[in-house]
Amino acid sequence: MTTPIIVTEGLTKDYHLGPHTVHALRGVSVTIERGEFAAVMGPSGSGKSTFMNLLGGLDTPTAGRYVLDGEDVAGLGSDRLARVRNAKIGFVFQQFNLLPRTSALENVALPLLYAGLGARERRARARARLADVGLADREDHHPSQLSGGQQQRVAIARALVNDPSVMLADEPTGNLDTRTSVELLALLQRLNGSGLTIVLVTHEPDIAAYAGRVLTFRDGRLRGDERVPAPRDARTALEALPEEALA
Ligand code: ADP
Repeated sequence: MTTPIIVTEGLTKDYHLGPHTVHALRGVSVTIERGEFAAVMGPSGSGKSTFMNLLGGLDTPTAGRYVLDGEDVAGLGSDRLARVRNAKIGFVFQQFNLLPRTSALENVALPLLYAGLGARERRARARARLADVGLADREDHHPSQLSGGQQQRVAIARALVNDPSVMLADEPTGNLDTRTSVELLALLQRLNGSGLTIVLVTHEPDIAAYAGRVLTFRDGRLRGDERVPAPRDARTALEALPEEALA
């Protein structure tokens, strides 16, 4: 058995707002194995973002344990946490979060600045990642010269450029039309098929259907943990989409 990529035990997060305490997460225990593709679902306010922020090392828990890739990170100070985050986590957001007036290649290469690599090596790695997501011919384009789906692919290439242990994606298809969403899911399924662990937040059951596991949050608790025996296949779904949905 290999070590799981993510282990949380009693993960708890309280926010203090003046005299009030918001119990955003009330003790979440979950194990995610290497190579899983897990969807995180739940109504607004159920704790999904708080959970993802903790998994991503963007915030620290009030209580509980979090072991990422064999390393206990719950108690790390902000500098060490940032280092772990840069090395092990690839983030993808609904809004793409690319730098404007910066080429696709430079956007993808950005995380490598902190990895202490020379410019030539950074460009080579970024170029390879752009090719992985099917955008080898768009490396000089700025975000405004790319479609939404292409911008999200650039963001995925950026998330992968450091060879992270896990990709955390927060509503990555939230700004994309149906066909582009399914194309993006096909890319995520392909990356997952080659070993990448993915945790994806979505409020759409139609998107969660492509994952192999569905974690459902409610009132800061993990209320459902379902294995999906036969997740929907995005490539097959693309073939079935009507012609008029073609972008
Ligand atoms: P979801 O992502 O499922 O919509 P969140 O994790 O954003 O849920 O929020 C869970 C609860 O924690 C909500 O009641 C929300 O209002 C509260 N919350 C989230 N972030 C903060 C914060 N920075 N300060 C205070 N309360 C927060």
